[in-house]
Amino acid sequence: MASLFTKIIQREIPADIVYEDDHVVAFRDIAPVAPVHILIVPREEVTGVAALPDSGDHQHLLNAARKIAEAEGLGDGYRLVINQGEAAGQTVPHLHMHLLGGRDLAWPPG
Ligand code: 5GP
Repeated sequence: MASLFTKIIQREIPADIVYEDDHVVAFRDIAPVAPVHILIVPREEVTGVAALPDSGDHQHLLNAARKIAEAEGLGDGYRLVINQGEAAGQTVPHLHMHLLGGRDLAWPPG
């Protein structure tokens, strides 16, 4: 069965898509925790970092993040987060990178 994010990628579920290329699709998080909170998702459906093949669409996540951060005007700084597994807070089993910005971000994270 297609993941929630694959359904968004295939336009079966609406989302505010801000970027896409041959490898990734990015859209605004439905429950943002920062003024800019975008999810960058490889088109290829992989459950998470622990299940990654050596190569694939996930290799394009960082380049997409850089382009989106530039487009969102996040020159002051931003954070990229991937939650792997339940203990780290992963709730959607389709690999995704959070792009967070637009406010000061505390360190260490919770
Ligand atoms: P995780 O907790 O797995 O790292 O991140 C999943 C993220 O997906 C959460 O921040 C959550 O708010 C977001 N999310 C869950 N369902 C939807 C949805 O239907 N649409 C959008 N745009 N974001 C979603």
